[in-house]
Amino acid sequence: MSDNYLHMVPDDPYWRPDKTAAEEAANLVRGLFPQAEHVGIEYKEAVTFFDAGANTESVHCAFCGSELGDWWGNAMDQAAVSDFSDLAIVTPCCSKSTSLNDLRYVWPAAFGMCSLTVVNPGATTLGAEELRRIEQAIGSPLKVIWQHL
Ligand SMILES: [Zn+2]
Repeated sequence: MSDNYLHMVPDDPYWRPDKTAAEEAANLVRGLFPQAEHVGIEYKEAVTFFDAGANTESVHCAFCGSELGDWWGNAMDQAAVSDFSDLAIVTPCCSKSTSLNDLRYVWPAAFGMCSLTVVNPGATTLGAEELRRIEQAIGSPLKVIWQHL
């Protein structure tokens, strides 16, 4: 049996919400996904990569669209050595300074110190208006990751 996770990860990979805001956002999400198995905030010790699991297809440069497959794998290995404390990279295709967090992941993926996570949400979409309300409650823009394991 496979599991689906909806991870909502703050745009800034080093940012964490305060406890009250996190609880408020989690309560809101519980109301939006009444069939979910579990809703909660996962706090991580270090920056963590939330990927799309089996939904992952490819990684692209956000500037020129080049596929970064092997290069990206090596860059991830290097960044992992320091627990992703430094995500800065220069793209191999067009020599632009950016971050591993700002590449174009298909499906979306993100780095973060925490995630508002829904386990088996019982739905496969999140509306823009709902997302906006969650972002307001937690106090940060969020990246939405649909992870299939
Ligand atoms: Zn490029």
